[in-house]
Amino acid sequence: MTQLEVTVLDKTFVPFISRETISARVEELGEAISKDYGDEPPLMIAILNGSFIFAADLFRALKINATISFVKLASYKGTTSTGSVITAIGLEEQLKDRHVIIVEDIIDTGKTLSAFLPEIHQRGPASVKIATFLTKPDALQYDVRADYTGFEIANRFVLGYGLDYDGFGRNLPDLYVLKG
Ligand code: 5GP
Ligand code: MG
Repeated sequence: MTQLEVTVLDKTFVPFISRETISARVEELGEAISKDYGDEPPLMIAILNGSFIFAADLFRALKINATISFVKLASYKGTTSTGSVITAIGLEEQLKDRHVIIVEDIIDTGKTLSAFLPEIHQRGPASVKIATFLTKPDALQYDVRADYTGFEIANRFVLGYGLDYDGFGRNLPDLYVLKG
């Protein structure tokens, strides 16, 4: 059952999108992806940590042959004026000529994905698409557009279904939003 309020550390969250609504939408995305790829098995690359629950559900919603791999992005301050650099840990997969689907929990400013996408393209994939559980169109600052989006939401902080507040809250089956 959905908890009416959830308190994590110093913050209180209230229900936002139910597990039933999420599940129905993920099924739709899975069907859309299955239709688009048909007999060309895509390789899903899920970005840890936040996307692991969405990725697991979306992967099981695929009706076609597909493979999945996970990467962790580490950002560090570069020595040049370009600022922080993002590298992928765990991307040993051969991407050459593969149809890649990047799976994210949420596109907020778009900074993370805009930094990561060149690294994917460098490896010569046949195609690259983006599937994200959530987007916040009002927060977008980089030219990143998802091909498959679960929900477009307002620019508010959300929790649950893999998304955390300081490491906690990822195990909540429903999506919550900061109260107030
Ligand atoms: P971006 O690089 O697009 O600005 O940020 C993406 C990352 O910020 C997400 O992968 C996620 O870790 C974090 N993030 C952005 N908005 C939220 C939010 O509302 N809730 C949580 N838990 N994380 C968020
Ligand atoms: Mg993330």
